[in-house]
Amino acid sequence: MKIGVLALQGDFAEHITVLRHLEVDTTEVRLPSQLDELHGLIIPGGESTTIGKLATTFGMIEPLRRFGHDRPIWGTCAGAIFLSGDAHRQQPLLDLLDITIERNAFGRQVNSFEIDLIIPALEDPERPFRALFIRAPLIERVGRGVEVLAHLPEDKERTGRVVAAQQGHILATSFHPELTEDNRFHRYFINLVKG
Ligand code: GLN
Repeated sequence: MKIGVLALQGDFAEHITVLRHLEVDTTEVRLPSQLDELHGLIIPGGESTTIGKLATTFGMIEPLRRFGHDRPIWGTCAGAIFLSGDAHRQQPLLDLLDITIERNAFGRQVNSFEIDLIIPALEDPERPFRALFIRAPLIERVGRGVEVLAHLPEDKERTGRVVAAQQGHILATSFHPELTEDNRFHRYFINLVKG
């Protein structure tokens, strides 16, 4: 089994490090032909407009869509935006996940924060998952057939807002599991790829 990490821009190296630590065969992906040998793909955080532009330049948009039709893809933060069908503005999107995204949803007040999430789908579900949000998007709407995996804890400001979702073999998180020690989300994706 081999899981690639799209390496056009963003924090792809951190995902590679976690996959290697979990003894998964992995490679950086920049060209369409590199997708052929893969069983799954991670699209990292970074800047979704840049990732989209580079993917267009490298002729990756259609190959990535085809890949996502039958193989698992997980997008973190900018990667989640890139997987979505609607980000409220013109930018290249893969439209593989029926969600609407609000980019930089925590924009001005808090560009970055950490919060404990309860994510029932993960191993050891009672143990909170420390989620790191960096100029993070919010999943504003999920379509039918999209499962909500995590939302922000209810409080006055952020009532039950969705930050992780899955539609079949396509997975999106607003936060960055590649930047914390807890690798349960990576293991969840690896299991998805194993099928
Ligand atoms: N704000 C970025 C975007 O809109 C995402 C930030 C991130 O990936 N940490 O693409």
